[in-house]
Amino acid sequence: MTDDKPHIMLVEDESHLARGICFNLEEEGLRVSHFETAEGALATLEIEHFDLVILDVMLPGMDGFQACRAIRILDPRVPILMLTSRSEDSDRVEGLENGADDYLTKPFNLVEFLLRVKGMLRRSSWYRPEPVEEGYRFGDNEVFLLSYRARTAQGEIDLTEMEVRVLGLFFQKEGRPIHRTELLQSVWGYSSDTETRTLDNFIVRLRKYFEPNPSHPKHFQTVRAVGYRFSRDGN
Ligand code: CA
Repeated sequence: MTDDKPHIMLVEDESHLARGICFNLEEEGLRVSHFETAEGALATLEIEHFDLVILDVMLPGMDGFQACRAIRILDPRVPILMLTSRSEDSDRVEGLENGADDYLTKPFNLVEFLLRVKGMLRRSSWYRPEPVEEGYRFGDNEVFLLSYRARTAQGEIDLTEMEVRVLGLFFQKEGRPIHRTELLQSVWGYSSDTETRTLDNFIVRLRKYFEPNPSHPKHFQTVRAVGYRFSRDGN
């Protein structure tokens, strides 16, 4: 019998917290494999596929940031949710810079945690796969959403699941401002009243990949008091 439940990797050294997380995710019909160290998790990632990685920052041995970079080499696409123990902004930014797709600061609310996990597991349904993939071109870039890769001025890069979702939404709504609430809801599955810097840090990442001058963006534009707008030609 095949088990098609989404498979989640949890890397967390605090056993009581890990037990609680496993119990609640399993109650939601998900399959969880728990690892106490990043080293153990990475060894398993070499041979097994996961649908989501939940990664604690403070771990014995290799920490969550190092682990995140190593996971991205093994699996460039898998969504990664980091659990940060400090509320400092630098921790969140560092996680997102190392390839994570979202973060939650401990202690977190269980309902919020489950919403976040479900949002990240949800497959993108708003872009239609084409039989033969034609790249989406803008500036010096060409993006292949179906194969999760892009050609940029800096070379070829692999895209994560969450990056593909954000880019898909931007391309679909090219030239139109998109409210940050809509981006957070359709890409991350956030409830509308959540305050987060995830989106802004994510845009910083996209600008680094695709903009000739990331501090003066042409393509991924900020729309004050609204959110962001994608422009193909920089107008
Ligand atoms: Ca820990």
